[in-house]
Amino acid sequence: MSAPQLDVSLANRLLDTIAADVLPMTEQSVELGNKIFGAALLKKSDHSTYLAETNNEIESPLHHGEMHLLKRYFEMPADQRLAPTELLFLTTHEPCSLCLSAITWSGFDNFYYFFSHEDSRDEFEIPHDLKILKEVFDVDPGQYRRSNAFWDAHGIQTWFHECKNSLPEDTRNELHEKIQAIKNRYTTVSDHYQSGKSDNQIPLN
Ligand SMILES: [Zn+2]
Repeated sequence: MSAPQLDVSLANRLLDTIAADVLPMTEQSVELGNKIFGAALLKKSDHSTYLAETNNEIESPLHHGEMHLLKRYFEMPADQRLAPTELLFLTTHEPCSLCLSAITWSGFDNFYYFFSHEDSRDEFEIPHDLKILKEVFDVDPGQYRRSNAFWDAHGIQTWFHECKNSLPEDTRNELHEKIQAIKNRYTTVSDHYQSGKSDNQIPLN
């Protein structure tokens, strides 16, 4: 089963998953000193939430939202968990190079992200994704291949901005309000993180 293109129904489910499943975990985790990034898996079959996690860098600097989700996923008994090809990979922020590779090595054929790399740098004061891509791989912003032999990447806000003028007004307004509400909550958790980050031991904080 290939991963679907974004449409109104899927966009609503992805946004609801961030708001209801990921953000509550992040709002608690940031209080402990963790970063604001989270991730979830949804079933391709009915778009229900399968697993959600959030950043846990105070335990290990490798436990980015996506990495921590994958750790939990692979801790599930192999004969009881759904295959990566049966799942949608949702991440609140466009994955860094570590997480792009982890998604690839784990066998997923898709991911959907809410905030872009540029948002992480400009709105959240976390420039490391773009800096690592440039320093290590000489890749400029937006220049990695969002569609390739392994997976297709889908930007939720990018999709909304591209198609909103063709949506019915009530649909457009509903999506806009959900997006805005999520952005507002991230502004709050980001302020929490930034105000306390000098106290944490995360190498790239
Ligand atoms: Zn990452």
